Amino acid sequence: MGKNIAVILAAGTGSRMKAGVAKQFLELAGKPLIYYALKAVEDSKIIEECILVTGEDDMQKMQQEIVGKYGFHKVTAIIPGGSERCFSVANAMRWIAAIKQGAPEAKDVVFIHDGARPFLTEEILERTLQAAKEYGACVAAMPSKDTVKLMDEDGFAKETPDRKIVWTVQTPQVFDRKLIVEAYQSFERDLPERGIVTDDASVVELYTDVKVKLVEGAYSNIKVTTPEDMMIAEAFLMKK
Ligand code: C5P
Repeated sequence: MGKNIAVILAAGTGSRMKAGVAKQFLELAGKPLIYYALKAVEDSKIIEECILVTGEDDMQKMQQEIVGKYGFHKVTAIIPGGSERCFSVANAMRWIAAIKQGAPEAKDVVFIHDGARPFLTEEILERTLQAAKEYGACVAAMPSKDTVKLMDEDGFAKETPDRKIVWTVQTPQVFDRKLIVEAYQSFERDLPERGIVTDDASVVELYTDVKVKLVEGAYSNIKVTTPEDMMIAEAFLMKK
């Protein structure tokens, strides 16, 4: 029987937050930011196991002040991340490959989610699970509200894609476990020439023939990146 495994990413430094403390520990309505994504996973009927990726220096703090304190029993491992998001995910994929050595053929599904997105819902988990089972790879996404422009080297507008086909991509990004583990293995073999990627779907697009399905996320499924996002997130939580 396959398992549904969540990978929660919290190894960023939060430099754009300018807070001096790692973003995942910043307080949002009385709880650390990382609490909310982990709580959604803990309460989910879908997710069975969770791997939490954090900064090397924060592993003990994460265990004591988050996982232990709030009783997040689905967290089976806290592992160190890398210097970029894609390297943090690569570490998690290596971890999953290692724990799955005994059952390489199991049909597991891996949900990769930014710990900085506190408003993950069960509906999004359900929709992405269905699509991952049907297509092998999917991402939560929403139609862009803004017109998007591509820029040339000199900072001028070069191209304006038709807004009807522009979607902004969120997490969770959800995959067949073998597919995403092998895609990241190929990605790691190509380093350092390859350079970084900013989402997991890109790795599947680059190294496999599988097409990534766009699945409806939510406009409320924001990533808390700058101080303004903290205010928006507080407002959402007040409404709840
Ligand atoms: O930097 P960005 O906002 O795109 O990060 C998205 C998510 O990836 C955050 O939850 C962050 O903690 C995580 N991340 C990570 N390792 C890094 C950089 C970001 O796990 N080196």
